[in-house]
Amino acid sequence: MGAASSVAPTTHGMKGKYPMALRVAVVGGGVMGSSAAWHLAARGADVTLLEQYPPGHDRGSSHGSSRIFRLAYPDDLYVGLAQRALPLWRTLEEQTNTSLLTLTGAVDHGPAEATGALHDELSAAGARSYQLGAAEAAERWPGLRIDSTALFHPDAGRLHADRAVEALQTAAELHGASIQHGVQVNHISTTETDRVQIVTREQEVLIADAAVVAVGGWAPQTAAPLVNGLPALRVTQEQPAHFTAADALDWPSFIHHPGAGFGVAGGVYGLGSDDGVKVGFHAVGPVVEDAYLRDRSIDPAALAQLQAYAERWLPGVDAASAEGLTCLYTTTPDHNFVIDRQGPITVLAGFSGHGFKFGSVIGELAADLIDGKPGIARFALGPR
Ligand SMILES: Cc1cc2nc3c(=O)[nH]c(=O)nc-3n(C[C@H](O)[C@H](O)[C@H](O)COP(=O)(O)OP(=O)(O)OC[C@H]3O[C@@H](n4cnc5c(N)ncnc54)[C@H](O)[C@@H]3O)c2cc1C
Repeated sequence: MGAASSVAPTTHGMKGKYPMALRVAVVGGGVMGSSAAWHLAARGADVTLLEQYPPGHDRGSSHGSSRIFRLAYPDDLYVGLAQRALPLWRTLEEQTNTSLLTLTGAVDHGPAEATGALHDELSAAGARSYQLGAAEAAERWPGLRIDSTALFHPDAGRLHADRAVEALQTAAELHGASIQHGVQVNHISTTETDRVQIVTREQEVLIADAAVVAVGGWAPQTAAPLVNGLPALRVTQEQPAHFTAADALDWPSFIHHPGAGFGVAGGVYGLGSDDGVKVGFHAVGPVVEDAYLRDRSIDPAALAQLQAYAERWLPGVDAASAEGLTCLYTTTPDHNFVIDRQGPITVLAGFSGHGFKFGSVIGELAADLIDGKPGIARFALGPR
């Protein structure tokens, strides 16, 4: 079965490409595990997804009403992946009759080297982008204070995160997957016959031909012992905030790149959403040693810093209205993802605060690995 048709509906009653249904357990029901369940079930695997929390929970990385979608990266690998992800999001919308991806366009502003590198990569990939001077950009987007060159790229916008995860699970179920919430996996091991044994907290045992371990911020304790060479993963609790704005849903997504006069090292991102304009500093949160024990309370000092940013740089929002929320980043040393297989175990980890947009295609990459295809070298297990 070709990759382009991998999530097309299978004939009712057939088990797709596998002569006997391949039994696959997916551990973790965030965007990545749910996408793997969708693609594998669509290819005819007998999929069981186990997620420890209820549907729509907010303890991991995939919850909420918005994530930025964009093609723009200063790196052709990620531009190509996003170009593959976009039509897969549309396929998912069709299969589940939901609206997930809204293209509002995106604005990047900051040093000319940063916006220029994005423009070059987008142009090389045949994607649209337009460079603007500061005055023109400031006039076009009065909600943003722009004092440098800017780049507008139309094939960008927002994904509705909660709806996307739900849709991936619904589509997986339409292809025959069993999606089970409230099931915590306590132990995963490889058997002598190279299969996988999974033991739940309730001591139920599941034997599968393959497992996909997509446990987000729980990967250091859960995935690291299962494979050799999982890169060091730094789990942090990040805290963006929603601000009220008159026209939040019309906002483009934006990235303010660090440069002269503005010093958030990882930059600032923002986008409109059902909950207002979401704004966050990229990768500044405190380290979380154990995702089960993390403090999900709002840090008033971090919230005040975001408000100060909004006062200065976002004239289109009410800076006083900030409502904080928390979420986990799981970051690799080089910020590249981990998508690799060792024996019957496939690990999806380390999405480094920028993985959601690729969610629709990550499951396809996982299914390809299980089908024996080579992975992407940059995402391999091993030293980073
Ligand atoms: C504040 C914030 C903003 C972001 N903004 C963007 C953005 O704009 N654009 C973008 O592309 N990306 C963005 N990201 C990154 C993106 O959201 C993540 O890369 C992505 O959600 C990671 O998904 P995941 O499935 O790996 O992890 P998770 O969503 O955490 O899923 C892992 C799941 O595994 C479950 N689990 C763990 N252990 C077990 C177990 N033992 N048994 C059963 N279940 C288990 C957990 O409960 C969890 O549901 C953002 C992230 C954050 C935190």
